[in-house]
Amino acid sequence: MKRGTPISGAVIANQNGSQMSYKNKCEMCGNINTSTNSVGIPIKGNKYTNNFRCMKCGNQQRIVIMGE
Ligand SMILES: [Zn+2]
Repeated sequence: MKRGTPISGAVIANQNGSQMSYKNKCEMCGNINTSTNSVGIPIKGNKYTNNFRCMKCGNQQRIVIMGE
């Protein structure tokens, strides 16, 4: 069973050991997007990374989710 742990820019909405869904979270203003994104959970020690621009404050936020 793999597990995704958000480091920055995301909150985990759901995960089942192989897939996870997360919501974008702006670390600048704390805004959490209502829609979820589903991706595979990275293997232990690897990171899932992505970027988004916050709709509320315009912050360019990096998403990092660590696989465990
Ligand atoms: Zn923001």
